[in-house]
Amino acid sequence: MPSFSKKSLRRLSTCHPDLQRLFRAVVPMVDCTILDGYRGKTRQNKLFDQGKSKVRFPEGKHNDKPSNAIDVAPWPVPDWKDLNTFYFFSGVVKGIAIALEIKIRWGGDWDGDNDLHDQTFNDLVHFERVEE
Ligand SMILES: [Zn+2]
Repeated sequence: MPSFSKKSLRRLSTCHPDLQRLFRAVVPMVDCTILDGYRGKTRQNKLFDQGKSKVRFPEGKHNDKPSNAIDVAPWPVPDWKDLNTFYFFSGVVKGIAIALEIKIRWGGDWDGDNDLHDQTFNDLVHFERVEE
């Protein structure tokens, strides 16, 4: 059964307990790797400057402590153009989140309407907690 590497577990530990619970349930189903959890100021602003994030520190959900956002990719990480693999993975994540009653937003469907064609900015590895 797939499980997280030490590096993934270290990144996962910087995230909100709900995100930890969610991805601990996902990894045995579909192997995956945690790319990012909490981000400090230097890293967040660097990603902003590179156009990989839309917000500067401390505006991002990755900048909350614990982090309310997490970047996760299927493992082995597919070619970034292999959208099907990311879409399949996000479907698994979403299904498990519903089963665990954890509300999330995915960067491949920001408005959460299950329409993947009305996106202006795709961040297919990004999942964030929706606070009520
Ligand atoms: Zn992210």
